[in-house]
Amino acid sequence: VTSLLVRDGTVVTMDPRRRVLDADVYVEDSRIVEVGTTRSTADTVVDASGAIVVPGFVQAHVHLCQSLFRGLADDMDVVDWLRRRIWPLEQALDGPALRSAARLAIAEMLLSGTTAALTIETVHGTEEVLGAVMETGFRAVGGKAMMDRLEPGTEMVGETTDEAIQRSLELLRAFHGAGDGRIHYAFCPRGARNATDELWALTVRLAEEHDARIHTHAAENRAQTARLAATSGGTDVAYLQSLGVLSPRTVLAHCVWVTDEEVAMLASSGATVAHCPSSNLKLASGFAPVPEMLAAGVNVGLGADGTPCNDNLDMFTEMRLAALIHKPRVGPEGMAALDVLEMATIRGARALGLEDRIGSIEPGKRADLVVVRRDGLHAQPGGDRDPVGQLVYELRSSDVDTVIVDGRPLVRGGELTEMDPDELRARASESVRRVAVRAAVEV
Ligand SMILES: [Zn+2]
Repeated sequence: VTSLLVRDGTVVTMDPRRRVLDADVYVEDSRIVEVGTTRSTADTVVDASGAIVVPGFVQAHVHLCQSLFRGLADDMDVVDWLRRRIWPLEQALDGPALRSAARLAIAEMLLSGTTAALTIETVHGTEEVLGAVMETGFRAVGGKAMMDRLEPGTEMVGETTDEAIQRSLELLRAFHGAGDGRIHYAFCPRGARNATDELWALTVRLAEEHDARIHTHAAENRAQTARLAATSGGTDVAYLQSLGVLSPRTVLAHCVWVTDEEVAMLASSGATVAHCPSSNLKLASGFAPVPEMLAAGVNVGLGADGTPCNDNLDMFTEMRLAALIHKPRVGPEGMAALDVLEMATIRGARALGLEDRIGSIEPGKRADLVVVRRDGLHAQPGGDRDPVGQLVYELRSSDVDTVIVDGRPLVRGGELTEMDPDELRARASESVRRVAVRAAVEV
């Protein structure tokens, strides 16, 4: 047994009572054993005095494979972003580039306190991405993008229905439950209209059969949503509802352009919406009605989306924006700090189907913990202030001191313990040069 003690911190537990405790957290192997312990020693002791201990952040929507494309697709809407940049670039990714992209994304997320993510990858090579999750110690639920239908406007089509399913099942067999449950497979039709009705039906059946998540994009861009609604089946969420896709295992990224009826469908089905405020702002997609979704009882998580539409993978940024951007419309009490921290932790865990394992600091849960310092001048004056408000409004990724995933310390003193930043830089630069030439995109 390997033991670890996080000592003297202010623990924001996110337990059912949302308690904040001055307590030590004692971990054996990958699990939290005690919160508030009399133990004074362990194999590893993390000093959290003066700091906040918070559950590792859970991002409900990212694309690890896109991290090499940071800064390559500025100032476009999502249709041009996909058609002119992201789709050609993704198609040009080779195995080593996919692995270096995933490692870079994971390193960036770990350093900013994210310990788990739900991810849609590209059509090919997802074994490289999930392999990187396996070796780095990160926690992820995700899968390859499935695309067997040409969506008008974006010029993206990838594979036949049979290829989409067979490739997904191969990955599921290799990775579902791997790494002692750190990785789970998800079936990921790329968008509501990138999959045929047949592929959606197979996705629903196989996700139930294998107890896997379904993750896709929906109702992101106003013109795109209206155009596709006119071609077939109504607006995205209603369309997915008509195909039987909406259920507690379904996570829809964005849902910016949804009707009141669709918000009710999301609530009654138990589906999760992954809110991506930076991405929705940068791609000029709009403001998702998140306060209305929460009021209706929809589970909402938070995500940074892909690097080229953000351009960071930093949960502190997403929390701050999620709290701020809706207030001018709904008033200062809408989107309170605790709502936002729930989205970043326990609601994200629910999105990933891992609410019984992660998302809060409680005995029996997996030890995904983050120690955040609050001695920076941007967080002064110090003293006994509400740590929830501090996390959402004041603190930054540079305040992250220690990050533990499944009991394994992957960041200490603000530095990666197992990955080498120089190697990540070198591999990323070398990979993106090769990929951009192949995609004929100027870097
Ligand atoms: Zn996305």
